[in-house]
Amino acid sequence: MIQIEALPAFTDNYLWLLQDGRQQRCAVVDPGDAAPVLQWLAEHPGWRLTDILVTHHHPDHVGGVTELKKACGARVFGPALETIPGRDVALEDGQSIEVLGLEWRILHVPGHTLGHIAYFHADPRQPLLLCGDTLFAAGCGRLFEGTAQQMHHSLSRLAALPDDTLVYCTHEYTLSNLRFACAVEPENPAISNRLAEVTRLRAASAISLPTRIALEKQTNPFLRSAEAAVRQVAATRSGSENLSEEAVFAAIRGWKDQF
Ligand SMILES: [Zn+2]
Repeated sequence: MIQIEALPAFTDNYLWLLQDGRQQRCAVVDPGDAAPVLQWLAEHPGWRLTDILVTHHHPDHVGGVTELKKACGARVFGPALETIPGRDVALEDGQSIEVLGLEWRILHVPGHTLGHIAYFHADPRQPLLLCGDTLFAAGCGRLFEGTAQQMHHSLSRLAALPDDTLVYCTHEYTLSNLRFACAVEPENPAISNRLAEVTRLRAASAISLPTRIALEKQTNPFLRSAEAAVRQVAATRSGSENLSEEAVFAAIRGWKDQF
């Protein structure tokens, strides 16, 4: 089994470092900055960075790719539909790749950007998801390029993954996301309990990730468009009844943009 460590970058990014201790090799997800990775490698002599996994083209996810590739000779994987610096392997939905001896299936999850991909490792002992800026703990990425309908479909695919899947998203947004989730569903005890827990974690400067699919289905308003309470608040805010699930999602996403 690999170890996964968060290397903080910028103000609220995490560069996930996947570590294969037996062979002392590692892979990094979305290195927006090379420095934290190079520092980790300098502190761990004997280790090699073999692979770089990119989910989408935003600068805080690809800014360190060229420098790391040059320094370490790592292979660069990235979405086929976007321009990714130094990309060696262009990935499309349904493809599988092997990284650190594990198989990863590619999911095309447009919405935040149009070519955004996620990497899913289906090991029944511990499924893993690297989902960039698509699904966040108690939230989801902004719709910079795609439509609400596309994002709703992408999130539905992620929500259909096994309940115990560990979800590695790339920003520490959990606390503000949960404050919004409480506004959407003030009567949902799973959300208020999680808000209390994450408030404690963040007060101690502890990381709130990874999350799990099961917890997201209970507490993430963007995975709960079918729930009566969420439908009701979306109807009230949009002034129309009988909204489709996509329209509920769009209403909640629009509200969050101004929250
Ligand atoms: Zn992004």
